[in-house]
Amino acid sequence: MRILLVEDEPSVAAFLYQGLSEQGYAVDLAADGLLGLTRAQATRYDCLILDQLLPGLSGLEVCRQVRAHDAGVPILMLTALGEMDDKIRGLDAGADDYLVKPFAFEELLARLRALVRRRTEAPAPPRPCTWPTSASTPPPSAWRAPARPSSSRPANLPCSSTCCATKTG
Ligand code: CA
Repeated sequence: MRILLVEDEPSVAAFLYQGLSEQGYAVDLAADGLLGLTRAQATRYDCLILDQLLPGLSGLEVCRQVRAHDAGVPILMLTALGEMDDKIRGLDAGADDYLVKPFAFEELLARLRALVRRRTEAPAPPRPCTWPTSASTPPPSAWRAPARPSSSRPANLPCSSTCCATKTG
């Protein structure tokens, strides 16, 4: 399982690098956005852990550019920004999940497992499109509007006497 960790804070990067390595993940580290993007485009990772505030290129921009070429790689966004707008921006940029600092390492591991599991379960081989089938398409009669009831009064019926009476006064 190969992970790219893009994090510019040395203490956080070192802590995550050590923790993930101890869990058996192969971790590549990038300390700025540009290097992160270069690595993400050069190597096929099982997951990206992306800090949002990065020198060079923001985590959001890295996320967008990675997504433009790889729709499938799971991306977990890390940030000190806990505002709703920041979370929405991260998810809109293509992140699959979002973790606000400070977070418990166990939670990061759990989210990582969930993302990777979702990815490994997801790619079913594309099946030929069979829609519409005769079974799913209603018979033509179901689409027909119900027959309109015939006029209650034949057209050649003379007016009632009250009708003519009111007209002639
Ligand atoms: Ca940062």
